[in-house]
Amino acid sequence: MIKKTAAELGALIASREVSSEEVTRAHLDRIAEVDGKVRAFLHVDEAGALAAARAVDERIKNGENLGPLAGVPIAVKDVLATEGVPTTAGSKILEGWKPPYDATLVQRLRAAGTVMLGKTNMDEFAMGSSTEYSAYGPTYNPWDLSRIPGGSGGGSAAALAAYEAPLSIGTDTGGSIRQPGAVTGTVGAKPTYGGTSRYGLIAFSSSLDTPGPCARTVEDTALLHAVIAGHDPRDSTSIDAPVPDVVAAARLGATGDLTGVKVGLVREFSGEGAEPGVMASFRETVDALAKLGAEVVEVSCPHFLYALPAYYLIAPSECSSNLARFDGVRFGLRAGDDGNHSLEEVMSLTREQGFGPEVKRRIIIGTYALSSGYYDAYYGQAQKVRTLITRDFTAAFEQVDVLVSPTTPFVAFELGSRTSDPYQMYLADLFTIPTNLYGGPAISVPSGLSEGLPVGFQIMAGTLRDDKMYRVAAAVESVVGTLTPPAL
Ligand code: GLN
Repeated sequence: MIKKTAAELGALIASREVSSEEVTRAHLDRIAEVDGKVRAFLHVDEAGALAAARAVDERIKNGENLGPLAGVPIAVKDVLATEGVPTTAGSKILEGWKPPYDATLVQRLRAAGTVMLGKTNMDEFAMGSSTEYSAYGPTYNPWDLSRIPGGSGGGSAAALAAYEAPLSIGTDTGGSIRQPGAVTGTVGAKPTYGGTSRYGLIAFSSSLDTPGPCARTVEDTALLHAVIAGHDPRDSTSIDAPVPDVVAAARLGATGDLTGVKVGLVREFSGEGAEPGVMASFRETVDALAKLGAEVVEVSCPHFLYALPAYYLIAPSECSSNLARFDGVRFGLRAGDDGNHSLEEVMSLTREQGFGPEVKRRIIIGTYALSSGYYDAYYGQAQKVRTLITRDFTAAFEQVDVLVSPTTPFVAFELGSRTSDPYQMYLADLFTIPTNLYGGPAISVPSGLSEGLPVGFQIMAGTLRDDKMYRVAAAVESVVGTLTPPAL
């Protein structure tokens, strides 16, 4: 049961060959069996999941058609508000907080009849590339428990690879869906910015944050994408436009025919800084796309290599403002409230104890970059670079349908090997960040193994052309197949 795809499970549940309760129990049992080793979950909502499963079973029995994912279990990154269910964003400062409402995305998951198993581990406030910055300890990569599962959404990706859930939700600000997907051999999509609602998503960098679907197959990812995407009047940057038919696009790509599709290789990502095994897997996959009929050309995007430094000014600037709300007054932790401290002291003690070192580093960088004397030199410059990168993308998509690159320069690294040098950690997102600055969609799909570990292939498309990336991703999958990790 746990190895089936979400599409298969949904069909079995809809035809009442199995109940959602049975499927949910199988996954809860799997979590009980392996999560002590993997630690993908921060909170498992066993009672809530079983109640939701029984309710779906009842509705299906009454003849309701709830859609293709009804009754299918799902894991949700702990950065989305879930009513009455603990939500921490991986931070001590939100320990014990139970939101009074559901994020729009969570509401849509419930309306589609999916069954939430629990909340997954993540780097604190989604800042990181390894899940080692979670205040609750790391998640371990099911492929090799001594290695990282990527980040910040390492829990959502590891839960898939460990067969603890067939579907999960991540959020991608600079790569946090795609990079964990790549290093765990799973699929993760960052939709077009504004294509999925941020209402109820704990903000990191509001102009970049994009929730999205994760699964073990491209079709499952597309099915989940279709459930969560679409306009939300409660999110001021939500796009009021039809969602492209990503499910049809994935099915078209699965036929393995890419005739008429133009694929662009980013010249600036020709391999410097990436592991040879990653580049070899990438090139093999590009050759396979050409064999499927795609026309492959090289495209120059001269500003892509400036994306990383621009991102590490813009994202910290926005987070320094967004995280000001965690002051010990409104939510979660409060320190020093003993009658001997002033309000300002309580706020600063709370923030000192509640935030981890990476979050503090970002707040300090962001505050500095936004300060009056440095605003133009840092934040202003970074915004100009962002415009140049957007122009690179716009020009590229006049020539090609999609751009491709490896998802991340290296396979899953050993736990502890990059935490002492923030810059080494930041490099994990070298190839994923340009897309976030532009706002278009991108997906990571497995392209094979290097030294026994999964490698991800990234496909980027134009704004609101999420369908194009799904078509090519499904074509890659039709050649590479899905990857199966060693037994835990
Ligand atoms: N790793 C990047 C960072 O640390 C991206 C994080 C994300 O996408 N949430 O900021």
